Amino acid sequence: MDCIFCKIVNGEIPSTKVFENDKVFAFRDLNPMAPTHILVVPKEHIGSINDVNSDNALIIAEIFKIIPEIAKKENIENSGYRVVSNCGDDAGQTVHHLHFHIIGGKKLSDNMD
Ligand code: 5GP
Ligand code: ZN
Repeated sequence: MDCIFCKIVNGEIPSTKVFENDKVFAFRDLNPMAPTHILVVPKEHIGSINDVNSDNALIIAEIFKIIPEIAKKENIENSGYRVVSNCGDDAGQTVHHLHFHIIGGKKLSDNMD
C-alpha cells in the first residue's frame, strides 16, 4: 500500500522516532506547529477514525495509554498539550493513516478554523 505512515512505521521513510512497541509508533512531525509536535500511529494501517471498529478498537486504548507517557517524557504533562486527530477533508486530514497529533510546549490558540 502506498501509505507514507506505513512506510515510516516499516522504516522505508526515515523519521525521528520517539516511541515504539509492537502495535504503536510515534515520531516527530516534519512540520511542527509547536515546540513539541508528535504523531502517534497504530502500526496496523487504519485509514481514519471512520475505520475504527470492534475488531481494531483496542489500539485506541493502547494509543491513549502511551500519549501521557510521551507527554511526560517531553515535559509537557503539566504545562498541557492538545491531542488532535483530523478525520476527512473538512478537518484537513492529509495522510490517510489514523494518527493522533500531540501538540504542546507553548500556549496554543483556540482557533479551530
Ligand atoms: P493531518 O493533516 O493528516 O492531520 O496530519 C498529517 C501530518 O503529517 C502533518 O502535520 C504533516 O506535517 C505530517 N507529515 C506528512 N508527511 C510526513 C513525513 O514524511 N514525515 C513526518 N515526520 N511527518 C509528516
Ligand atoms: Zn498506512
